[in-house]
Amino acid sequence: MRIGVPAEIKNNEYRVGLTPAAARELTRAGHEVVVQSGAGLGVDFADADYLAAGAQILPDARAVFDTAEMIVKVKEPQASEVAMLRPGQVLFTYLHLAADKPQTEGLMASGATAIAYETVTSRDGTLPLLKPMSEVAGRMSVQCGAHYLEKHQGGRGVLLGGVPGVEPGRVVILGGGVAGFNAAQMAVGLRADVTIFDISNARLAELDTIFDNRIRTAFASSDAIAAAVREADLVIGAVLVPGAAAPKLVTREMVRTMRRGAVLVDIAIDQGGCFETSHATTHENPVFEVDGVIHYCVANMPGAVARTSTMALGNATLPFVLRLANMGAEAAMAADPHLAAGLNVAGGKLLHRAVADALDLPF
Ligand code: NAD
Repeated sequence: MRIGVPAEIKNNEYRVGLTPAAARELTRAGHEVVVQSGAGLGVDFADADYLAAGAQILPDARAVFDTAEMIVKVKEPQASEVAMLRPGQVLFTYLHLAADKPQTEGLMASGATAIAYETVTSRDGTLPLLKPMSEVAGRMSVQCGAHYLEKHQGGRGVLLGGVPGVEPGRVVILGGGVAGFNAAQMAVGLRADVTIFDISNARLAELDTIFDNRIRTAFASSDAIAAAVREADLVIGAVLVPGAAAPKLVTREMVRTMRRGAVLVDIAIDQGGCFETSHATTHENPVFEVDGVIHYCVANMPGAVARTSTMALGNATLPFVLRLANMGAEAAMAADPHLAAGLNVAGGKLLHRAVADALDLPF
């Protein structure tokens, strides 16, 4: 199959759909890979790296879209990209259609087969192509929190790890799933004092076993959260209720009780945020203050570490890309219901029930 990788054109997006290493796996399997010149530059992959992996370099997006049977990207296609898709062409990327009617209608009009990373499932019911980004955001949350705790950033001037003779900073993590677990790993690594809250007793038991006595676990009752955030230096919001807005676990009133210069990192901001005082921010202007408490609420945290994120996403997508290329999209999806769960649009029809319901479109 001929697989195309255009440069990402969404504002501030530096990631790229295939790494040179992934391109090599595909060319070794007998496929052709065409890459738009400069597509990997934002994450330090030169055209020469793709050429060395057996790919061809094409001058512009139009050439890639016209040549390729399958387009592999990172972000949802922008209007100019949707306009270049053709009937039967496969598009494999993040789509997030449930909140984007114009894109959905554009994809339907194109006749292309659009498979969304975020709805591909795995046997254990999780979302394998969202997981790497939650891992990145979780690990990054502690790094960001530590940064904004510094005095000249407006923070309390607390070193999360403390030093011999001085107690460590207190980190409270709300939600012990993929992002929360990865945040805890980083915070424990820094020697902070870590408490993880969750409403799943089974998950709390797992975390207790994994981290042994290096963390505390706590059931996420409102009273317990209120008591913990009052004493916290860093609070990380990492809850998820699938298909719903994040619950507001930390109220405005609770924020008012916190220490001046404490930091909140709301990873769940892409689902509306789990602090009542949160609103989405960008990498250009990542923080704001409410009652002296610093809020970091960037909805696209992995974008800041685009190289790591590209490689993490690529590791997760490559097995699916290979299967789509080796078998053809139709046969690959017929053979794997988890990959088929990624199918959102094909032949002019919307084929994902949850997306159709969210957009009030016929299924
Ligand atoms: P996950 O499903 O692995 O974990 C969510 C956890 O939250 C689960 O353990 C669940 O039991 C727990 N939870 C649910 N309701 C709760 C409540 N009321 N109190 C306490 N815990 C509760 O999800 P994840 O992959 O870790 O994702 C977490 C969030 O991070 C999601 O909103 C996701 O979209 C977001 N995310 C954001 C970015 C970003 O850049 N900001 C990047 C990746 C992921």
